[in-house]
Amino acid sequence: MSRNFKGFLPVTKKEADLLGWDYIDVILFTGDAYIDHPSFGTAVIGRYLQSLGYRVAIVPQPNWRDDLRDFRKFGKPRLFFGVNSGVMDSMINHYTAAKRLRSDDAYTPDGKAGQRPDYAVTVYTQILKKLYPDTPVIIGGVEASLRRLAHYDYWEDKLKPSVLFESGADLLVYGMGEKPVKEIAAILERGGDRAELLQIPQIAYLSDSPYKGDKRSVLLDSFENVLSDKERFVRNFAIVEQESNMWHPAYISEPCMGRFVRVNPPYEPGPDGEIDTYYDLPYTREPHFKYKGKHISAYEMIKNSVNTHRGCFGSCSFCTISAHQGKFVQSRSEDSILRELSLIASSEDFKGYISDIGGPTANMYKMKGKNLDICKKCKRESCNYPNVCKNLDHSHLPLLKLYKKAEEIKGIKKSFVSSGIRYDLFLNEKGYLDESGKSYFKELVLNHTSGRLKVAPEHTEDVVLKSMGKPSFGSFVFLKDEFEKICRIGQKRYQLIPYFISSHPGCTMEHMRALSSNKALRGVRLEQVQDFTPTPMTRSSVAYYAGIDPVTLKNIFVEKDMEKKKRQKSFFFNKF
Ligand code: SF4
Repeated sequence: MSRNFKGFLPVTKKEADLLGWDYIDVILFTGDAYIDHPSFGTAVIGRYLQSLGYRVAIVPQPNWRDDLRDFRKFGKPRLFFGVNSGVMDSMINHYTAAKRLRSDDAYTPDGKAGQRPDYAVTVYTQILKKLYPDTPVIIGGVEASLRRLAHYDYWEDKLKPSVLFESGADLLVYGMGEKPVKEIAAILERGGDRAELLQIPQIAYLSDSPYKGDKRSVLLDSFENVLSDKERFVRNFAIVEQESNMWHPAYISEPCMGRFVRVNPPYEPGPDGEIDTYYDLPYTREPHFKYKGKHISAYEMIKNSVNTHRGCFGSCSFCTISAHQGKFVQSRSEDSILRELSLIASSEDFKGYISDIGGPTANMYKMKGKNLDICKKCKRESCNYPNVCKNLDHSHLPLLKLYKKAEEIKGIKKSFVSSGIRYDLFLNEKGYLDESGKSYFKELVLNHTSGRLKVAPEHTEDVVLKSMGKPSFGSFVFLKDEFEKICRIGQKRYQLIPYFISSHPGCTMEHMRALSSNKALRGVRLEQVQDFTPTPMTRSSVAYYAGIDPVTLKNIFVEKDMEKKKRQKSFFFNKF
């Protein structure tokens, strides 16, 4: 057995036996390879439960097509099975925006496709419930989280009910799962009943009645009603979105097929540093040794990176981060991040380059309301769109301090920032918002890019940008001028690479034509345009399905014809 064996959570019965385990508390099934690194949720949940004293095994990418031996190999856990599809929704992982099957998979050794089923959460859970009907199955991760209520599924082109129905799962954990999973394990450990489990925040489950307690609650329109009336679906979504962006969301009940999906509100956002615990666990920071050094591209991309925070208050219409991680940013302490950086720097094969000091939006580190009492009553979807909230502390000083300290660590030659930024947090079309933002942009360009700074204006036309929840194109024009100035003074020949999206709701061929002839883009290297993919639980996917903008409730143009979608995208390349 490899010397690394005891560093990993067991993935085979033999490994569990060698650890001397005669029982296992929790068995986690996942659609990804097992990569023992804090960027992968399965490793985080496994390590966290382990730190609480539980015995945890992992079954990565179980074979669902044979005699199901992967599902039986550990037998029944003492407490529960946990199931997720992996880091991504399995349908996004499998199919392109044109619904073509992808030939590779970044989360699988050697990129081999076909190692997880479509709708992995549902398939794994159905198998487990059939084999072990009495053992609780808890589903979580992005696929379960964003399908917790009725949602539009682009791949089947229809509305689907909560994933709780099809999968047969006992409970669904949405968002970042550490806190609810800790409570679930503790309740099951002490023999608590289902009624106790249903009090846990941040879970969803099926019930025979809507929520009836004395806490604030909302009753959504039924699945049957939204199926026959698109506007009702849009209104339901608008309620869910507003609630999920509040500090104290309501209890949500959604009638569906004679039952009710109930969603308990999440835990309150914790103070800075609270999430350190999850990053400070003893990860090996490697893929399990069973993969024998095979290339896993998702791992190669993040192995020398650190995540500084969770959550995003940007509220881009096409993005799922705030629906999953929450709107309120929760940051790690500087000490915890520096500890992780030192650990990377001390590893044998480290060449001196940190690939990313980032997060869902790299420059939101430590940003939050100056007066949290105001935030606690706030109903805004975004803290920076359509304008930066006066109560938002958008200082970039904590991040500048962190970058400086990172570069002082022995062995680190340079640290890059490859996660996306929201540039409207430090400038608008008229100029910088404050001095810290100005210093930040200069520092970012000169010391944290590899010569190519990727930014995402997403479009040039304000009407399309509005439907995306993105700042006006004038902000990008100012950013570009500043970028060129900084490079000129710093004598750098760096490139600015803007990213765009075609076929987003509201975007016509005329808008793409206008984009392609925009004067501000002359001389700019254009290489990235992404065809819009409607993913569950986003404003954009709701607009795509219904042809109604969930913010204005007005009709919106949607390009659904695959040929025309292709033309929107290729038009861009033909022009440049
Ligand atoms: S910073 Fe402003 S927009 Fe953001 S939650 Fe607080 S009050 Fe609301």
